Amino acid sequence: MKTLKDYEKELSKCSKCGQCQIACPIYKLTKNDCTVSRGKFLMLHGVTQKELKLSQNINKYLDMCLKCGKCKDFCPAGIDALEIINCAKYEYMKNTVLSKLINFFQSRFVFSNILKIGKLIFHHSKQDIIRTKALRMTECEESPDNAKQNCLSVIYFKGCVNQIFPNTDKYLSKIFKNSGIKILSPDFDCCGLPFLSEGNMKRFEQAAKINIEKLNADYDYLVTDCASCESTLLSYGKYFECNITLKKTLNWGDIIALKGLKFEFKKPVKVTFHKPCHLKSDAFFEKIISNCTNITYVKMDDYDECCGFAGSFALKNRGLSKEISKNKALNIQNTDADYVITSCPACILGLKQGLQLIKNKKTKVVSLLEFLAMAEKIN
Ligand code: SF4
Ligand code: SF4
Repeated sequence: MKTLKDYEKELSKCSKCGQCQIACPIYKLTKNDCTVSRGKFLMLHGVTQKELKLSQNINKYLDMCLKCGKCKDFCPAGIDALEIINCAKYEYMKNTVLSKLINFFQSRFVFSNILKIGKLIFHHSKQDIIRTKALRMTECEESPDNAKQNCLSVIYFKGCVNQIFPNTDKYLSKIFKNSGIKILSPDFDCCGLPFLSEGNMKRFEQAAKINIEKLNADYDYLVTDCASCESTLLSYGKYFECNITLKKTLNWGDIIALKGLKFEFKKPVKVTFHKPCHLKSDAFFEKIISNCTNITYVKMDDYDECCGFAGSFALKNRGLSKEISKNKALNIQNTDADYVITSCPACILGLKQGLQLIKNKKTKVVSLLEFLAMAEKIN
């Protein structure tokens, strides 16, 4: 496990050019250098030089980050702010009383039981779950229309939100019925992002190791419909020694585009798309829309700007979170869309928050899978 000291060289690469200020959604609102990577790096460099103490005040600025990674894309030195901020958070939290409480709630036993309670509350019936799982697991072999060689074997990393809400399974069953996709859905642990964000590195490493073990299987693609889970899975090697090369990791949108599925909608509908910060590529979206009848796509301004939610950021920085969500919602409203579609369960919350704040009752927020499953005909 790396320590802040290991990033000393990386921190000293910052030339103070200020390019990150142009990209950072927080800096755009606060105009405070401590809220963007340049200022955070300056403070953390002071910590590594023993000129500053990793104080509560510095921790406040560490928490004032959406982990959107936009600053890295703009940084001429290519400094990975997320990696450094997450490590600093770990260093700060490790000896605090609060960390003991967080560690308890995030422990595997407590965390998995919280998910189980969520499942009990939201699953319609146990029978529903079993039926959906069985259908999906046998689609590939049973489909008479698909030759075996056309069959794709994918591992679905559901993520915690989809564990609780059962509908995603139903959307997948409808979309991929007879399309020659074999979906394996092992019992993964959380991707680890909530642990990483709270500096709970031990639990993060535990979750990562459990997940890596489950990925030791025969499959073509690792698929998610949560951009944050995907980017976290791909980040394991940054934080600790990990000798796994994940097979191609894709979003469900990529698989739908790859398969060239066609969707018939009877009534004309106008849609817009929000690109989650952690989504690698959104190229699938326009491909899918071009295979839909009766759908008009209107691209919103700043469609790839953060929704403002970002997990615990929204709880710790209510004012900033609302402001960013509101700006996003105004861009959505300007498109006059019936639906805003996205590929991340956390973004759904951020988009809903924004639309509620501007009292927009017209535009519904949906995941890509939910939207496509509304089609009258899929082939
Ligand atoms: S990750 Fe995003 S919010 Fe955090 S400092 Fe970089 S640009 Fe700003
Ligand atoms: S863009 Fe990179 S090098 Fe420039 S100030 Fe920001 S962190 Fe430093």
